[in-house]
Amino acid sequence: MHMGRPLPTRRYLLRTAISGAFAVLAPHGPGRASDKMTREQAQYQDQPKGISMCATCTLFEPPRSCKVVEGDVSPQGWCKAFALAD
Ligand code: SF4
Repeated sequence: MHMGRPLPTRRYLLRTAISGAFAVLAPHGPGRASDKMTREQAQYQDQPKGISMCATCTLFEPPRSCKVVEGDVSPQGWCKAFALAD
């Protein structure tokens, strides 16, 4: 007779194995298309912040992209990841 914790069911073991395999194959989770921040996460705005703007940021990719923020980025925009070129 078995005492203590109940043995795991076959269904539990199968589910655990599948979710583990999924975690290895899809490390960023389902539906995640990029590792970039969203505009909301970056607190992106379409206006400059003082003299800081995307056009002078090292992460800007002309004409309207960014290496770390997803979506359309204006040369006159700004976000909290701003990095001034040397
Ligand atoms: S200011 Fe932000 S959104 Fe603009 S280019 Fe730099 S990192 Fe990208």
